[in-house]
Amino acid sequence: LETLETTMRDENPNSWEARANTNSMYGFTDLPTIEKRGATIITHGDGPYVFDVHGKKYLDGNSGLWNMVAGFNHKGLVEAAKAQYDRFPGYHSFFGRMSDQTVMLSEKLIEVSPFDNGKVFYTNSGSEANDTLVKMLWFMNKAEGNPQKRKIITRINGYHGVTAVSASMTAKPYNEVFGLPLEGFIHIDCPHYWRFGKTGESEAEFTLRMAKNLEDTIISEGPETIAALVAEPVMGAGGVIPPSKGYFQAIQPILKKYNIALIADEVICGFGRTGPVWGCQAYDFEPDAIISSKNLTAGYFPMGAVILGPNLSDKIQAAAESVEEFPHGFTASGHPVGCAIALKAINVILNEGLIENVRLLTPKFEAGLAELAKNPNIGEARSKGLMGALEAVKDKDTKTPFGPEANVSEKIANTCSDFGLICRPLGQAIVLCPAFIMTDAQMEEMFDKLTKALNKVFAEVS
Ligand code: PLP
Repeated sequence: LETLETTMRDENPNSWEARANTNSMYGFTDLPTIEKRGATIITHGDGPYVFDVHGKKYLDGNSGLWNMVAGFNHKGLVEAAKAQYDRFPGYHSFFGRMSDQTVMLSEKLIEVSPFDNGKVFYTNSGSEANDTLVKMLWFMNKAEGNPQKRKIITRINGYHGVTAVSASMTAKPYNEVFGLPLEGFIHIDCPHYWRFGKTGESEAEFTLRMAKNLEDTIISEGPETIAALVAEPVMGAGGVIPPSKGYFQAIQPILKKYNIALIADEVICGFGRTGPVWGCQAYDFEPDAIISSKNLTAGYFPMGAVILGPNLSDKIQAAAESVEEFPHGFTASGHPVGCAIALKAINVILNEGLIENVRLLTPKFEAGLAELAKNPNIGEARSKGLMGALEAVKDKDTKTPFGPEANVSEKIANTCSDFGLICRPLGQAIVLCPAFIMTDAQMEEMFDKLTKALNKVFAEVS
């Protein structure tokens, strides 16, 4: 164990690492590891690389938290922010007032959305966008005389955020420590065929079973009590889990039959991560609304958005008119600097070669993952576009995972970090979601470093 953890913490109480531990809290961090290794304090970035306080360079195989798709020093994005700070550095979207940048961003979002028409509501994060969406549905259904139509369905391993409502949607066991989920949040099957398919069950049969279980749940809960099913096109923080074949085609008619909205949480998938602009386009389904964040500003500003298709936007508008207003909003909703950055980010992704590079890099990414999947301790390599994962297993034939005490994915990520590569452990998987600006050479560097780390860790633990 000790030999793996070569980056040891700096004991000097004035070190950046010690200072970080004294007054800052980490989110989602394995604290015993930090106690041992020390934090990594980042000062700046260059393209897809970041640098720590000691000058060590890391290739960030996770593009920050999936979001820094244009890299860490994109001149156009920084210039757009500076120009808007000079012009008008802050405003809100309350009381019938909003910035010109906000108006233009909403027009652009509807233009690039799969919807012919619709409306956009802005938040500061993806979590708040999911909260906002749920409140909108509660508000709308109550105004329409259906106050009982409140339940929200999400899938096990789905990640939708951390606020009380969005954490209730996030179907991960760690939320039990908060006494969540709240009442009325229902978690159904995870459509991961490799892990949850039964012996002898074909992928098509698995998909049908997922759809049947959904319909059974709807019937037993009461269709009139269910407002929406919210789903990531590809589950991201659940460990990059693409749906089983035909999944959305199987569930969408069931939701339509019972008048249940289908919401695509595109916080990760949106703006090119899976190849097309939206993940729902990659899987050919038609959501009633889209939740966006992360790539929306290429990570250069905290912003989320609920993008309502025409049906929901008309109904929510009517509900708001019936009580005079939609009593909801954040101080920084539609912040002009965030909107100016988002307008630039959308242009950079769609028109300055980034989304094209996702398409060009995807075969190389898939080939790199497939090569690593030959390792006897990798049970599955899975990906869509530039999001992928490798699932570590103790026994490939039986798909038996390593025990939690082995801490394998954490060790792989730590060893990668020693080699100058940032990647993320998620359960037993290692997740990669490189920036859209990566070159072929940087992609090779990513896989070389990961290969070295996997070989080292599996040699130790097997
Ligand atoms: N939805 C999805 C699919 C996400 O991946 C995330 C964050 O990773 C969120 C929502 C929450 O976004 P935020 O962290 O900005 O609150």
